[in-house]
Amino acid sequence: MQTIGQLDPLRSAVAALRGDGPIALVPTMGALHQGHLSLIREARARAAHVIVSIFVNPRQFGPSEDLATYPRPIEADSALLEAEGVSLLWLPDPAAMYPAGYATTVSVSGVADNLCGAARPGHFEGVATVVTKLFNQVGPDMAFFGEKDWQQLAVIRRMARDLDLVQPAAPAIYGVATVREKDGLALSSRNAYLSPSERANAASLPRAMRSAIAAIAAGAPYRDALETLRQTLLAAGFSSLDYAEVRDADTLALREAPHPDPARLFVAARIGKTRLIDNMALIAPA
Ligand code: AMP
Repeated sequence: MQTIGQLDPLRSAVAALRGDGPIALVPTMGALHQGHLSLIREARARAAHVIVSIFVNPRQFGPSEDLATYPRPIEADSALLEAEGVSLLWLPDPAAMYPAGYATTVSVSGVADNLCGAARPGHFEGVATVVTKLFNQVGPDMAFFGEKDWQQLAVIRRMARDLDLVQPAAPAIYGVATVREKDGLALSSRNAYLSPSERANAASLPRAMRSAIAAIAAGAPYRDALETLRQTLLAAGFSSLDYAEVRDADTLALREAPHPDPARLFVAARIGKTRLIDNMALIAPA
């Protein structure tokens, strides 16, 4: 595996790989876990070469968020990528990504406006901007993102279509199912922040989400199922919820009652100093 930190050598290295067939990009912020590795395995199955980027993107963190403390175990990450057969690790440094005078932002409206877009102002501009830059730097034939960050996937799909970012067409953006711990908690680099007792309580999040989905499938009004979910999480040690909503799986339009189109339950909740997000499909009406 080559590790490259500068743009010119990256371009030459990618040009040399391109002759072997399609190139896949898996963008990450590092602190790699099995969720990331599942993206890489999907990418390896479809592409001749997989390029993984690790970049803790300052522009997608709010001023009071965890940019400074975000885990950066680069040596362990590098060993994991090597073992997965990744061809190239793209490790740009922030000064090269955003040099003095940098002034351009990519902003997606609609799908980026609600949920985490409302709770974390500027977050999706940061994501859309860095992913556009990564696509332009690497020039991948396909890119892989986790359904764990469903709204991020929706924002990137919209942006890739709107800006003709992937060639020849939009289907080159792949979403990969969320990898979970045995107790249901979705893997996340931020789970490392949880104390042992917070970690034990965090399993209430997927459990309460599954209960809400079962209640909705059994005919409970959305509002009642979501209120029960909220109370369950607060009783289980969560301090607050940013949102608990049912939305259309594609457009992210709010759903307050059953609808024929596929919908998902989205939750962001805080436990201690950690903010956890998760999303799950509603059970389709019979
Ligand atoms: P991050 O390093 O958190 O920016 O995540 C990099 C990519 O891995 C994103 O596309 C995430 O959606 C994806 N990802 C994170 N956690 C999981 C998970 N538990 N299962 C599947 N994909 C994940």
